Amino acid sequence: MRVCLSCSFSLGSQLVKMSRKFFVGGNWKMNGDKKSIEEIVKFLTCGPLDPNVEVVVGVPAIYLEYTKSKLPGNVAASAQNAYKEPKGAFTGEISPCQIKDVGVNWVILGHSERRNVFGESDELVADKVGHALEVGLFVIACIGEKLEEREAGKTEEVVFRQIEAISKKVCDWSKVVVAYEPVWAIGTGKTATPQQAQEVHCKLRNWFKTKLGDCAAQKIRIIYGGSVTGENSKDLAKEKDIDGFLVGGASLKPEFVDIVNSNKQTC
Ligand code: PEP
Repeated sequence: MRVCLSCSFSLGSQLVKMSRKFFVGGNWKMNGDKKSIEEIVKFLTCGPLDPNVEVVVGVPAIYLEYTKSKLPGNVAASAQNAYKEPKGAFTGEISPCQIKDVGVNWVILGHSERRNVFGESDELVADKVGHALEVGLFVIACIGEKLEEREAGKTEEVVFRQIEAISKKVCDWSKVVVAYEPVWAIGTGKTATPQQAQEVHCKLRNWFKTKLGDCAAQKIRIIYGGSVTGENSKDLAKEKDIDGFLVGGASLKPEFVDIVNSNKQTC
């Protein structure tokens, strides 16, 4: 890999970052039908997708098996939510065991729409993360502040509170990807600048350092989400603590391929 001196961080940081596999998740939310899923599968299959990137798409539960049967081998499927119990009288919910049972190994938990539209608390999100990990799923754990919280200077307080709750239920961080998604940037077209995103990612990594030590903190993947596009992903990917993206709207479009490939920097 070529490394040029004008890049925004040093060779040492570059090597540390390279040790964390770049991760790009798509979050289809409550979108798609069999026909449009075929189209998405087509552009994912044509790619080409950078083989150094782990790619996972978050699929509506009802289409998980269908999508999994169609996806190319280099793209994994993920559920978008799961409950904190293995089974029982929880009408409308799905459990991590059921997700595993259909051959899916990932789940997105704590997405801002779960927190803010469906009222999920930090504690519920943490319980869900703990249970999903117990069952053997990999988790994309989402955190992020609302606009009023950022404007009140509370970004750090909010994301530390959210990650603290989750961390109480995590023994093995290699099974978790942390998605920092400022709520004000999700689905709004207002992306955080690379500097704004890097600032929070760096604080989160420092938080992990104080809790787990430097070595463990350097291994944790922290991805950014919020109006990521094929265009803005290139600059965001250059930041030393941004290890990939969680992508909503653009994951339904062919530009998702460009986002997956955004880490191939040509300084
Ligand atoms: C998301 O749903 O996690 C997300 C980041 O959405 P968008 O990319 O559309 O802002």
